[in-house]
Amino acid sequence: MDLWFESALLEDGWADRVRLRLASGRIETVERGVDPAAGDERHFVALPGLPNVHSHAFQRAMAGLAEARARADDDFWSWRELMYRFVERIGPDECEAIAALAYAEMLEAGFTRVGEFHYLHHAPDGSRYDDVAEMSGRIAAAAETVGIGLTLLPVFYAHGGFGGQPAGAAQARFLNDVDGFAGLVERAGAKLPQDGVIGIAPHSLRAATLEELCELLPVAKGGPVHIHIAEQVKEVADCLAWSGRRPVRWLLDAMPVDARWTLVHATHVEADEMAGIVASGAVAGLCPITEANLGDGVFPAAAFMAGGGTIGVGSDSNVRIDAAEELRLLEYGQRLTRRARNVLAGEERPATGARLFAAAVKGGGRSLGVQTGLAAGRPADIVSFNRDDPAFAERKGDALIDSWVFASRVGIDCVWRGGMKRVEGGRHRQRDTIEAGYRRALARLMA
Ligand code: ZN
Repeated sequence: MDLWFESALLEDGWADRVRLRLASGRIETVERGVDPAAGDERHFVALPGLPNVHSHAFQRAMAGLAEARARADDDFWSWRELMYRFVERIGPDECEAIAALAYAEMLEAGFTRVGEFHYLHHAPDGSRYDDVAEMSGRIAAAAETVGIGLTLLPVFYAHGGFGGQPAGAAQARFLNDVDGFAGLVERAGAKLPQDGVIGIAPHSLRAATLEELCELLPVAKGGPVHIHIAEQVKEVADCLAWSGRRPVRWLLDAMPVDARWTLVHATHVEADEMAGIVASGAVAGLCPITEANLGDGVFPAAAFMAGGGTIGVGSDSNVRIDAAEELRLLEYGQRLTRRARNVLAGEERPATGARLFAAAVKGGGRSLGVQTGLAAGRPADIVSFNRDDPAFAERKGDALIDSWVFASRVGIDCVWRGGMKRVEGGRHRQRDTIEAGYRRALARLMA
């Protein structure tokens, strides 16, 4: 099938009158400066799909339920209590239905692959399902139904605090020992949809000891390794009290962190820790909407990117699923704290939204273990803009992306994933069915 675009952001920059030939889920050829042929599907503007490096799909179902004050000092930890209560009620069917809606909304937003940081492994009392990877299978099934690319990151969780403290009862569904986890990862890997990638995710330094981290790494078999790190000030203080080092410093000193790693919410970092992340090649997984929602703090993105750091963005709690908004809020957090504009613009790419988008496409691919970008041989993961959105009137090149990130309301028209058109007119083609399944699951959950 051939797609023709008035313009496209290709791997080496913008080009006009571009024809992409798709075959076997990939971009077979790229032609520039050509007229559309009879039978070509014609569109306005093409961008590469954006990877979503960090998601907990099930949390989509509690979006909006944690915005009423429960106590005067509401914070991340009181949010987590509510999340744990919610978790107790989610079975395999609910997990799959919620993930399907979250993934459909990701595609609609321009995310074409998700890194699912999946920790809901077992039955509510902690007992194993007959198939130990039942819940991972449901995540894979949701991704396959919806058509989003999946990098599945089963989470290793064994403890409730630094230094191997015992886990609490509310964490029973997440827990494994290293051997059990290795078996789970093996089984989960066999359930992946086509072009799925499997990695591992030690949950945090609170949940895994040094010995366990060392034993876990071979389980990844060279795939991506993701970890939550330094999201909370209390987490940093607890890590200092336990080890005398801050979490990122501790991790860099203790583990062979490299470009396979993604450090999710490296929010609270000092200059030497940032330099260490940059030198390692690891990706900083930033989740601006969730970090704002949970009151985590602001990552020093300006210094990190100026120093050569690699970023990816993630929708994390999925309280809102909006790729443009993640990029916008990433920049706005910097503007608000530094009282300046266009803080994250690049030397070579002064358009702020376009620079962040390009960085997140590239870094997101590294984080999720796949190639990204529009070029021959790459996966046919393509997003088209909606010509009818007045935000795009008389815009060209990078100004189109800036207008999408900062100004547009209905910017996305179509999304192809692995060569298949999944979103048309801004709406997932199976949205009605997926949404009905979600509503039934929510009715059971909230009953
Ligand atoms: Zn997370």
